[in-house]
Amino acid sequence: MRSAPQPGTYNDMNMPTEQAAIMAEAQSQATQASYDKSDLTLRDRLIEAGILIDTGEDGLYGRSAIFEDIVERLNQAITLLGADQHAEVLRFPPAMRRRDFEDSEYLKSFPNLAGTIHSFAGNDRGHHRLLEALDKIVHIGEGEERSDEWMDQQKPTRLVLTPAACYPIYPLVAKRGNLAKDGATFDAFSYCFRHEPSIDPGRMQMFRMREYIRVGSPEQVMAFRQKWIERGSLLVRLLQLPFEIDLANDPFFGRGGKIVADSQRAQQLKFELLVPVATPDRPTACLSFNYHMEHFGELWNIRQADDSVAHTACVGFGMERTTLALFRHHGLDVKAWPAPVRELLWGNADPIIADGLANMGEEA
Ligand code: AMP
Ligand code: ZN
Repeated sequence: MRSAPQPGTYNDMNMPTEQAAIMAEAQSQATQASYDKSDLTLRDRLIEAGILIDTGEDGLYGRSAIFEDIVERLNQAITLLGADQHAEVLRFPPAMRRRDFEDSEYLKSFPNLAGTIHSFAGNDRGHHRLLEALDKIVHIGEGEERSDEWMDQQKPTRLVLTPAACYPIYPLVAKRGNLAKDGATFDAFSYCFRHEPSIDPGRMQMFRMREYIRVGSPEQVMAFRQKWIERGSLLVRLLQLPFEIDLANDPFFGRGGKIVADSQRAQQLKFELLVPVATPDRPTACLSFNYHMEHFGELWNIRQADDSVAHTACVGFGMERTTLALFRHHGLDVKAWPAPVRELLWGNADPIIADGLANMGEEA
């Protein structure tokens, strides 16, 4: 494991640099004399091939059948990888209660990434005003300034967009009362929203995260995180993708955020599995392994069997990023992907994963 230099989420705090890197890559490719398909950026190639569908907004894409199929197959492989965890499967829509979100302290750390949901709260007269305001802008072309006057009567709803698949789990565990002696393990999957528009196809505004979440004693959750660093590495090795595991930090907001990020690093709370995706020299975090210590336990009052505050950890699989990494390294034609990778995704994955786990010294 490396600790420096840090290609991890420090990059997240520095979006203009990241955008500049992609633009520079595109530019240097475009100026080459022989201009063929490989000169396009990964994003351009995926859109041209119809694998991702451009909506006109950076970070918001449609997905083709093949893209979705890969996401589904990856998801199944992750289920096999975690079959022995007997995790409780919980699925939520990609929204959560605003009051739970407020209590979660997400806004303290990442106010710039949060997505709130607003809705019209006017009366009949207000509706009229809304229609008039819309009339003024509906035929304005792309690139021209549009007034957002119609939004004057939009009010926050009691819902917000989910920022990470594990967020709806913690308040729910807390409500159930003290944990059993061996704690609890959950399996979550959700579309997540983060307001970080970018031309990097690996940085979407809406993307899916599959997670396993462990709640229990410090020993239980640390063992879980270590296990998943190894299992996540196994999956990515079986997918024949180059990767490295690195110490990381979340992109905490503002001047104070730097101190929090430094402390997160010093305590080694976050690791990422990085794969070169859109910017080969700056690998992208495809999996994250987080130890929150008693942060969520304290926030939500989650108690262990002996009444002490629970610790939590989670492993997050970035479904889109891992899919993009596969396209980057194995090409856009899935039929031409290496046979073992095809067998893992579309063949009989069971024995492959069982073997992989056994070779790591784990029983499948
Ligand atoms: P995080 O909570 O930031 O550690 O994110 C968990 C996982 O979600 C990461 O390891 C990524 O694979 C994925 N992810 C995070 N942000 C984005 C994004 N903007 N677009 C696509 N995937 C993302
Ligand atoms: Zn999580």
